[in-house]
Amino acid sequence: MKSISGIPASYGIAIGPAFVFDRAEIVIETYSIKDPAAEWKRFEEARKKTHLQLDEVYLKTVEESGEETAEIFNAQKLMLEDPELIKSIKTRVEKDLTNIESALYETAESYAQQLEAIDDEYLSARALDIRDVSSRCLRNLLGTTDSPADGLKTPSVIVAKDLTPSDTVLLNKDFVLGFCTAEGGSTSHTAILARGLGIPAVVGAGTEIEDIQNGEDLVIDGDAGEIVINPDPDALKEFRNRQEKFYKIKAEAEDVTHQPAVTTDGHQVEIVANIGNVEGVQAALDAGAEGVGLLRSEFLYLERSSLPSEEEQYQKYKTIADAFGDKPVILRTLDVGGDKDIPYIDMPREANPFLGVRAIRLCLSRPELFKPQLRAALRAGHGNNLKLMFPMVATVDDVIKTKEVLEECRDELKKEGYDVAEEMDIGIMIEIPSAAIMADQLSEVVDFFSIGTNDLSQYTLAADRTNAQVAQSASGFQPAVFRLIKGVIDAAHANGKWVGLCGEMAGELLAIPILLGLGLDEFSMNPPAIPFAKQLIRAISFEHAQQVAQTALNLKSDTEIREYIQIEVPEVNLG
Ligand code: PEP
Ligand code: MG
Repeated sequence: MKSISGIPASYGIAIGPAFVFDRAEIVIETYSIKDPAAEWKRFEEARKKTHLQLDEVYLKTVEESGEETAEIFNAQKLMLEDPELIKSIKTRVEKDLTNIESALYETAESYAQQLEAIDDEYLSARALDIRDVSSRCLRNLLGTTDSPADGLKTPSVIVAKDLTPSDTVLLNKDFVLGFCTAEGGSTSHTAILARGLGIPAVVGAGTEIEDIQNGEDLVIDGDAGEIVINPDPDALKEFRNRQEKFYKIKAEAEDVTHQPAVTTDGHQVEIVANIGNVEGVQAALDAGAEGVGLLRSEFLYLERSSLPSEEEQYQKYKTIADAFGDKPVILRTLDVGGDKDIPYIDMPREANPFLGVRAIRLCLSRPELFKPQLRAALRAGHGNNLKLMFPMVATVDDVIKTKEVLEECRDELKKEGYDVAEEMDIGIMIEIPSAAIMADQLSEVVDFFSIGTNDLSQYTLAADRTNAQVAQSASGFQPAVFRLIKGVIDAAHANGKWVGLCGEMAGELLAIPILLGLGLDEFSMNPPAIPFAKQLIRAISFEHAQQVAQTALNLKSDTEIREYIQIEVPEVNLG
């Protein structure tokens, strides 16, 4: 028996034989051509075929995992249309007289490498998409169709270096018990797809898993992020018991996910979703979301080559807000800078971008960027429950300046004859320690807070959230972070304002009892976490949660807090 640790990517336990997914490399030859027009025609045909295949794959994925997951393939179609990419390929074919296979491969690979170099997990994961779509097109050019997925004939645990979206779609899901990959992070495609399919997964487990042989017995523990090879009989029995318990809890939680989250002693909290696009709406509603606690608007700006217009933004925001009717939808204004770079927004290089012109700071300095978004939001919020939220607020002055721009937009729109939301609630993210410390004064100038623990932890502990070496120190489970959260909730409540939390912690079962006990009003999380979170809250009492929170605040470390919760609130253990 041997065990390897990785990143937990999708809940649950998978047990079964290994299926090693070994993608045969495509061999690309480089040679000179004489007839660039004929070569380009070959490309057009292969591209057309690729588009048709992607349409099919899209439909298959919608059926298996829903529209949000399937969107990956629409995005891939757009990549193959990207004017810059096409121009570079054309130059190689027409000017350098290079064969199309080589031109396509070299150009796509150079794009992928540029994306990988960006210090952003989301964008670097898109490198895999470029490679995926270009290799599909290359296979069409070369007339090769074989896929290692064809070899999967019995229920197995998939082991791969990394899986492209196409690889995953080709796998017969009836035979996929779980996934583990050497590469990838929690936002990698394997993680997203596994969560969409509800299949246990561990990603980023390192090269050690490449030694796993076909047919070896494996256990994937998606909760702990552990892969066990050839488990001994006692360990296997233990995993089987946990697996059985997990399935029971999951089925029960999903059955009642449309009911509210009320503790055994009658304290109700709101459970809402984090989404990043129109496609996320259905998944959120299906999961039992009572609204949207964080609509990350920057995703509308990524994966395109120019700014979205006010009209485009208006349409998207309105579609999302209307879909939730009178349930709240909190639109967060553009949060770029830091680790999120948008190539067409000209941002100067900074030595410390996380401490630089990021989010609201950028927007306040660039009205041409900010005002169309605010105008779109004010228009979209007419007749529904859209709320606006500003990221990276550090001072009361930031809020005052922001509200001035908002009022300016409202006046302009009214003069232009638009219907606008008259009473739109305004909130801020509490993700900078100064904002947490000034929560009493800030709560006088806004309607609500949403705590962003992903950033609040990194700024409190001075540990870059994207740096794997210190990311562990940036954990939101540090008592220092919980103490700040307590201060924020108390200050807001003293002023009659409500507080939500939309960092990853809101959906972590180990954190929920503490946050609940501290008096958090709203929990905003990825849709798949909703049934589990609601079920946990229904299983405990508010009184117990309050005691647990009090004790946790006085513990000394992240580890002590985690261990304490596991023992004190056994309902957090899914398996
Ligand atoms: C956060 O910082 O907790 C948050 C939700 O925002 P983001 O992860 O988008 O920075
Ligand atoms: Mg943040």
